[in-house]
Amino acid sequence: MIKAVKGTRDILPPSSAVWNHVERIARDVFRAFNYREIRTPILEETALFARGVGEETDIVSKEMYTFEDRDGSSLTLRPEATASVMRAWIEHRLDQIPGLQKLYYIGPMFRRERPQKGRYRQFFQIGAEAIGSESPMVDAEVIQMVVEILNRAGLTGFKLLINSVGHPPCRAAFAAELRERLKEVAPSMCGDCQRRAETNPLRVLDCKVPEDQPIIEELPKISEYLDGPCREHFTVVKTMLDAVGVPYTINERMVRGLDYYTRTTFEFTHGDLGAQSAVLGGGRYDGLSESLDGPKAPGIGFAIGEDRLILALQAEGVKAEEKLDAYIAPLGAGMNPQALKLARELRRAGVKADMGDESFRLKKSFEAAEKAGARYIVIVGENEVASDTLAVKELATGTQEQVPRAELSRHLRR
Ligand code: ATP
Ligand code: MG
Repeated sequence: MIKAVKGTRDILPPSSAVWNHVERIARDVFRAFNYREIRTPILEETALFARGVGEETDIVSKEMYTFEDRDGSSLTLRPEATASVMRAWIEHRLDQIPGLQKLYYIGPMFRRERPQKGRYRQFFQIGAEAIGSESPMVDAEVIQMVVEILNRAGLTGFKLLINSVGHPPCRAAFAAELRERLKEVAPSMCGDCQRRAETNPLRVLDCKVPEDQPIIEELPKISEYLDGPCREHFTVVKTMLDAVGVPYTINERMVRGLDYYTRTTFEFTHGDLGAQSAVLGGGRYDGLSESLDGPKAPGIGFAIGEDRLILALQAEGVKAEEKLDAYIAPLGAGMNPQALKLARELRRAGVKADMGDESFRLKKSFEAAEKAGARYIVIVGENEVASDTLAVKELATGTQEQVPRAELSRHLRR
């Protein structure tokens, strides 16, 4: 038997209902904030991620699905979408359009990680990017939009962590100091940290190895290295979040996994997710466009891990159901054309209606209606059609009513 590839999953009904629920809410909220959808290809040139995300990141150094195409070029299944959105923005000269570009996307991403709860090789992200403004107002608005999505989805137990990683000059000073300090302490840290101490010292800060934590506690803090404008930017973000009543915690250790971040970074965590506690991550990336040979284009964005958001919703007991209003039961095969006509009429009027693929005896029709999860069964017999009045039974209560055809759709949608 051929099975789904390790780390990939089939999302079957009825569980797919909660995915639809989350995506519908996200689209509504994006529209409320004037974000519009962008769809970029799943395949990109490998160089896009190597340059956009950063060679030294875990994503690029060990998680990408990269292969050689038949013509010898190197292609990669996108591990994230910010680099792709920025590529599209540059390629289509969206900088020529005045004002801020507010874009969102929903789709699968691919990373070759060790599969476990909340971590898959194909997973889904719901993300957005606001490109073209350096203003901290945009940072606060983006974070507020995330909160709106989580709230409307029905999630409560989440926590917002924010930090500022400064812009490259502050970060360079901080990284130099870290590198210096790590010379003394790195030899007693884990193998990854020993390597990162050389290649990308900031990465040491998000090491998860318990034995390393006391050492990391003692390392210098980024806040001490922020210059005036970066400090001011962060202050405004915090003031704006306070103004709209979005609670947050500052986490100076949060440097996030992608190299392109500048200034504001944030993460939302949820207590019921175990080790994979980050529901989403985001931040500002003022230098990304230039690293892809684009014009200067400050931007900020985030990506919600949809799989994890759904795990968190399920842990909180949030349910989404796809309901069926009516099951149509023709009384005998002769009534099939009439039943099909009625089904069309009801569906056009917004009723969610189903019918069998043959005409059953009434008892079997009731079983089928129940199995389909219908609220009502509508019986289509000769008398019903002749009198334009249908027999409608509510399955849960057993109450049966005669409903005039003209009122039927309203009755069923109640
Ligand atoms: P983590 O530290 O958990 O590996 P990350 O920093 O690599 O996360 P990002 O690249 O910021 O994650 O992606 C944003 C969000 O996408 C994460 O917060 C998470 O919810 C989700 N995500 C990332 N990788 C996976 C994965 N392999 N499976 C499921 N969701 C993922
Ligand atoms: Mg990761």
